[in-house]
Amino acid sequence: MSRSPSGLSTAQRDLLHLMDVRVWKRRPPEEPAAHAEPPPLAPPAISGGFSAHAESAERSAPPAAAPSASPPSPPASPLAAAAGPPELEALKSTVAACTACPLHSGRRQTVFGVGNPNAEWMFVGEGPGEEEDRRGEPFVGRAGKLLDNMLRAMELDRATVYIANIVKCRPPGNRNPSPEEAAACIPYLHRQIELIGPRLIVALGAVAAQRLLDTDQPVGALRGALRRSAALDRPVLATYHPAYLLRSPGQKRKAWDDLQLAMREMEALRAGGG
Ligand code: SF4
Repeated sequence: MSRSPSGLSTAQRDLLHLMDVRVWKRRPPEEPAAHAEPPPLAPPAISGGFSAHAESAERSAPPAAAPSASPPSPPASPLAAAAGPPELEALKSTVAACTACPLHSGRRQTVFGVGNPNAEWMFVGEGPGEEEDRRGEPFVGRAGKLLDNMLRAMELDRATVYIANIVKCRPPGNRNPSPEEAAACIPYLHRQIELIGPRLIVALGAVAAQRLLDTDQPVGALRGALRRSAALDRPVLATYHPAYLLRSPGQKRKAWDDLQLAMREMEALRAGGG
């Protein structure tokens, strides 16, 4: 695969451009440095501090328009409908019938998760939005497209990773799930993780990061380092939610730094058999 002077493939550079992450070319060294290891990327042209206010509004409510009439039959997502191993399918059926928290009353359908049931990578968000509720698949719409671009920049895609949420039913008005709703639902995610066995989990946004790492710290404090979840017995990398990145594109650079960190960790885990 052809690599640019920044160390990225042409496809990765194109996709980082789609993410609006600017990549600077490294100037060729005047003297070859035999043992100097180049940084993965030069410093970004984007700066800006983390805004706790903006973070807490990751899933800001949509415009207060009157609810439109529901489509007669929501389009089925082929990925969401794909069969998996029997235990995962049985769990999916259990989730589809779940009424353990109040979110069940407002859902069109549960959004269990999609992807490779033997994935090395698992990406976790907080909960389905309106489009996800209609299609039965996590991360669709604009935020989903950005996540797809992030995956492609990592040379991954939806079919090779597994994508799920903390809660499987849509919180009304696209609000964040409450701690009680998250607590009611997270055993399903823990079981998914147990069955899929990813090497590494990427927590997208504050809710996912806090619930997976059992902390109340903001995602701005949790990101930038691999953390270990004792309960899940595997590393968790927290970064910003794609919906937040759409509203705060200046933070995309930090998200890409996080993903690069996760990619390096994945290489180490593979090398070590972890
Ligand atoms: S969000 Fe989770 S716990 Fe609540 S009803 Fe849906 S599946 Fe059950």
